[in-house]
Amino acid sequence: MHESKNINLTPFNTLALPGQAARYQKITTPEQLAAATTANEKRFILGGGSNLVLNGNFDGLILHMAIPCKRLLKEDAESFYIEAGAGENWHDFVQWTLQQGYPGLENLSLIPGTVGAAPIQNVGAYGIEVGELLHNVTAWDFEKQAFLTVDRSACRFGYRDSVFKQQGWHLSGRMAITSVVFRLPKAWVANTRYADVTQELAAQQISTPTPQDVANAIIAVRQRKLPDPAIIPNAGSFFHNPVVDHNVAHALASQNPALPCYPQPDGRVKLAAGWLIEQAGWKGKNLGPVGMYEKQALVLVNRGGATGADVRRTMAAVQADVKARFGVDLTPEPIFL
Ligand SMILES: Cc1cc2nc3c(=O)[nH]c(=O)nc-3n(C[C@H](O)[C@H](O)[C@H](O)COP(=O)(O)OP(=O)(O)OC[C@H]3O[C@@H](n4cnc5c(N)ncnc54)[C@H](O)[C@@H]3O)c2cc1C
Repeated sequence: MHESKNINLTPFNTLALPGQAARYQKITTPEQLAAATTANEKRFILGGGSNLVLNGNFDGLILHMAIPCKRLLKEDAESFYIEAGAGENWHDFVQWTLQQGYPGLENLSLIPGTVGAAPIQNVGAYGIEVGELLHNVTAWDFEKQAFLTVDRSACRFGYRDSVFKQQGWHLSGRMAITSVVFRLPKAWVANTRYADVTQELAAQQISTPTPQDVANAIIAVRQRKLPDPAIIPNAGSFFHNPVVDHNVAHALASQNPALPCYPQPDGRVKLAAGWLIEQAGWKGKNLGPVGMYEKQALVLVNRGGATGADVRRTMAAVQADVKARFGVDLTPEPIFL
């Protein structure tokens, strides 16, 4: 695969923001990474562009990950070990695991993007985070000019967090994940503790769900609640759910009895960012061509023709209003390029 110049990036980001890459290369094999770029070059590793805010043109090299592979690597008495290439579409991969009889990832159905990006922010949904089921990650290290394998414990997964973010490697383009191995336990137990999922299964009159039933229920719920980026460009949840000290949460809850609070193992409390944004008056509200989605206030949407500057303006306005109303800081979830 050869390098191209001045490539339009609008089709490669789900917010459909304008921008051009000075240089662009599609990566279909791990070996191409070694040949593609030198250690100190300005680069960005791109997956499906579903967690990305483009700030306009990028004057470096975009490496667009398209490495394929999905296979059973090995199995033992307890688990299936499944390997997937970084460029595989995440949702298609999850559906493939279910069709092959390897359950475990079903709660993460319909998350856009690629397999290689899933560990970066430890994607999570409906009570599961990918880090719980990940065995290891193989990556090309541009600084060391070598492939390395990062075990699950060394990935240091947290809420929408991993060592790749903690070290800033996602911004510097230091590491390109080439493949991921998942460890899926053979003893499967349905995780249907989210009310939306239980209600959907009940509506479908399913009392003993299979892994595919759980996936289908989650797909149905997500399709109802979230905008399809192909129709209304967006990057999913735009802000992290803020985690605050117990005292702060207690004071807020006494003034706002409906405030959703989720106690964390470390004693702090996670608040629902979507609820805070809605209460601050932003559900369905626009600022220029950018707004917060009418069915889910946590999702920022491009109403048409927005730029990265428009996104940042709306983001700042939402943050300011939530801060003024609740004293809580919201931090954005997507990566700003
Ligand atoms: C409608 C919608 C719903 C969503 N729902 C969820 C959800 O439920 N849960 C959730 O956690 N997220 C969700 N997201 C966010 C997004 O889908 C995930 O963060 C996803 O993992 C991003 O994948 P991507 O391939 O598009 O990554 P990109 O947006 O292309 O990149 C994201 C970051 O990962 C880095 N990166 C990408 N690939 C690699 C690689 N191979 N090696 C090294 N670095 C890499 C990039 O450099 C960048 O820093 C949603 C997004 C949308 C649009």
